[in-house]
Amino acid sequence: MRSGNPFGVCKNCGKQIMWIKTKAGKNMPVNPQMINYRRPEAGKKAEEKLVTPQGEIVAADRTDGRNAEGFGYISHFATCTKGRR
Ligand SMILES: [Zn+2]
Repeated sequence: MRSGNPFGVCKNCGKQIMWIKTKAGKNMPVNPQMINYRRPEAGKKAEEKLVTPQGEIVAADRTDGRNAEGFGYISHFATCTKGRR
């Protein structure tokens, strides 16, 4: 187990990542930038999947700070430039 430091480096692209433990008990690599999010209205599809600092996964849209519901982080896999083709 890693101790204390949640930061790491992606093996594929070399960017800094942060580890968050999800509610399911898995360690998930995320981009360390906080993203404000808002869940879409019923029936609409969310653009992003985010994980909150508490490890909860939410499907939501990015928003600016004013009408944000909360904040979370984007999975690094979704943005990794050297990941899956
Ligand atoms: Zn990467």
